Amino acid sequence: RIQDLNKISDYEWEIPKSYRQDMRVAVRLFVTRRLLEAALQDLSIEQAINAATLPGVVEPVVVMPDMHQGYGFPIGGVAATRYPNGVISPGAIGYDINCGVRLLASTIPLEAAEERLDDLANALNHYCPSGVGSEGSIHLTTAELDAVCRQGARWALKKGMASEEDLRRTEENGCLEGADPAKVSQRAKQRGMAQLGTLGAGNHFIEVDVVDQIFDGEAAAAMGLQEGMLALMIHCGSRGFGHQICTDYVQDLQSAVRRYGIQLPDRELVCAPLDSPEGQNYLAAMRSAANYAFCNRQILAYHARRAFEEVFAGSGLRWQLHQVYDIAHNMGKVETHEVNGRKLKVCVHRKGATRAFGPGHPELPDAYKPIGQPVLVPGSMGTASWVLIGTEDSMARSWGSTCHGAGRVLSRNKAKKDFRGERLRNELEQSGIHVRAGSMSGLAEEAPMAYKDVDEVVETVSGAGIARKVARLRPVIVIKG
Ligand code: 5GP
Ligand code: MN
Ligand code: MN
Repeated sequence: RIQDLNKISDYEWEIPKSYRQDMRVAVRLFVTRRLLEAALQDLSIEQAINAATLPGVVEPVVVMPDMHQGYGFPIGGVAATRYPNGVISPGAIGYDINCGVRLLASTIPLEAAEERLDDLANALNHYCPSGVGSEGSIHLTTAELDAVCRQGARWALKKGMASEEDLRRTEENGCLEGADPAKVSQRAKQRGMAQLGTLGAGNHFIEVDVVDQIFDGEAAAAMGLQEGMLALMIHCGSRGFGHQICTDYVQDLQSAVRRYGIQLPDRELVCAPLDSPEGQNYLAAMRSAANYAFCNRQILAYHARRAFEEVFAGSGLRWQLHQVYDIAHNMGKVETHEVNGRKLKVCVHRKGATRAFGPGHPELPDAYKPIGQPVLVPGSMGTASWVLIGTEDSMARSWGSTCHGAGRVLSRNKAKKDFRGERLRNELEQSGIHVRAGSMSGLAEEAPMAYKDVDEVVETVSGAGIARKVARLRPVIVIKG
């Protein structure tokens, strides 16, 4: 199979459109040979080829080095379809709509905080509700949930849980236009009402990191990142709300596939034309979930700030956390991109891929226009995580996108069999990482060995030019549901 691929550089490969008769466009893979060989072990590449058959898809479908197989479409995949006459596919956006990462930075040096880290772990664990199906202190009425769907993080601002500066440093200012809660099922709303401001379980986390190394001084300064200082990372999405919306529409759109006569190589790639009522309804519901997720991470940030205040307020240290950025990695966005010298409106599906707009992009806040958009790449609870920025190349070659994490190598089930949660926790604690976890089997699923090498993934995207390194972080506290 590897013989069928064209090698473009050490970091880039191509599957030409001639590879399979039903492909409308080529697939571009940002991988090293080693990562490519790893990717050939699961269905991710076949899923990317399937995505290249979608009606209205624009050259090329892109996959990132952290790719692995997902529902109908690879995690680590990006597909752009013509707006409005291409299709939109829920499976190419993901079940956890607007799963994403938020990074806040402090000026607390690790050394000064060392003996309070245990208290900080307890306080974060206390203020940020976590666990499967966890419920928060906020129980929304239906009308309030509708407001969250329309306003996103702005809803939290009205409740005193955000600042204008937080919103400025959030993708889309924390609110997508065109959300319509009337397109969301009662079942989804039921699940959403009690879960706002909660972390959930599994891969989601709140982490305190220390800035380990700076690679780009100018960009780090613009973000307020300094070597040796603590930072806080939140990884979470739209909880049961977004999951139910995806479930509903994966089912609903099956009839649209038949009605519009769309030929699909895989049923899981279910989709609808963007200009059909079905496609528009999903878009409006998906945007509601996206706004819920922006608001969710904002409230978690508010809780985390309370924890920092409680632990550090009397210490003479400045406990404030300022927002670096908040960015989605499971989302469908209508964007304008330059294709063959012409502006083209497309729906960019990013699933396990992060938006990475380059310098000067009008969507960016003033602080980031000179440097490009911050990209947040978590690694694992025992390894590094990275802060990158978008580039001209990401705009030109990967639909303004780059990687989103290390990416799994072992399935959750395999990881659960191979590793023991208690042992893992002890090992992490021994290496100076404070762990709070709701479930030991859940922790085992997230073992660092279950993921690829994040440094290699980042080396690949920076080598290919679709992101640039700014800073490397290392964990000191991990809160898992
Ligand atoms: P996903 O959204 O695909 O579930 O996860 C994104 C990425 O987060 C994963 O690919 C993995 O590299 C990373 N990750 C998972 N658990 C942790 C953790 O506890 N801490 C950090 N820093 N990264 C994690
Ligand atoms: Mn998620
Ligand atoms: Mn995620």
